[in-house]
Amino acid sequence: MNEKKMMAARLHKVKTPLLIEEIDIPCPGPGEVLVKMKACGICGTDVHTALDGTVATAYTPITLGHEPSGVISDLGDGVRGWNKGDRVAIYPQVTCGACPPCREGHDGICINARVLGMHRDGAFADYIVIPAKNLVRIPVNVSFREAAIMTDAGATPFHAVTKRGQVRPGETVAIFGCGGLGMNAIQFCRLAGAARIIAVDTSDYALERALRVGADITVNAGIEKPYKEVMSANRGYGVDVAFEFVGVNAAIDQAVRSLRRGGRAVTVGIGPERINIISPFFFVYNDLALIGSFGSDIGDLERLMAIAASGKLDLSESVSSVIPLNEVNQGVSDLEKKVGNPVRIVVSME
Ligand SMILES: [Zn+2]
Ligand SMILES: [Zn+2]
Repeated sequence: MNEKKMMAARLHKVKTPLLIEEIDIPCPGPGEVLVKMKACGICGTDVHTALDGTVATAYTPITLGHEPSGVISDLGDGVRGWNKGDRVAIYPQVTCGACPPCREGHDGICINARVLGMHRDGAFADYIVIPAKNLVRIPVNVSFREAAIMTDAGATPFHAVTKRGQVRPGETVAIFGCGGLGMNAIQFCRLAGAARIIAVDTSDYALERALRVGADITVNAGIEKPYKEVMSANRGYGVDVAFEFVGVNAAIDQAVRSLRRGGRAVTVGIGPERINIISPFFFVYNDLALIGSFGSDIGDLERLMAIAASGKLDLSESVSSVIPLNEVNQGVSDLEKKVGNPVRIVVSME
């Protein structure tokens, strides 16, 4: 391979495999850095982008991948505070800093956000160029693989639990969907002081895993009315907060029904179905809330790294397998079909 060239996994056309091809190594402009990739997680969003097209990209061909970590390889003009060789995780969207949400510190919902692998080239590649403001330092005792999944599979549920759901000490919570994000959400609810955590999933395998990371009670969603089980687990009142990580109407409906009066449901999963839940009478009478939660703010990722560094996060089951870049299509397909009950499949460039 030429010194100025690198390999990248690029989407040319929806529903066709990503092409692993040789392209030019990008050059960092002012305020940007070139990062040599070490790891990048495969997300459910990659499945939607590559395989079913429910997430559209701004252009093609585009390099996918938005859960990156690596090492700074070159610095553009005017970059201060960073050096070649620094270990970094990358906040996966470039924000404007000028729109109303950015001004309030909610950069996660920047109106002009440009997401890696959606609006600009992502990280299933040997190198990526990114503004230095997107970098978060990786603590010495956190691996590149762990840091990579922190950027989305970690930070997204962290944001949902701490900012959108605002779980308080002593509350009872239910987690609908115990895959990559739900598993981490269980741990964040525990750290937030939740008294009881009820894990709901259709897979017994996922439920056992949920128990290992801190769930207290499990409910198999395959039964007829899982919300009734969830409610009875909290003296029949229902839970204070329910989180939904699946993105299907049935799960959102069950999450809302499992709430106590005055409870709040936070939905994180993405899917094409319409949300069609309970009647306004039930919803209003019970003073319920249904809250969407998208991604995370860069400050969430910063705090998450501090938690990971403290050893208070069990990341031992967060990465279920590691594959090389040229097997990324297999990884995306395995995630879609849930081959081997994946939590997070990570592409390694090491
Ligand atoms: Zn993602
Ligand atoms: Zn903005």
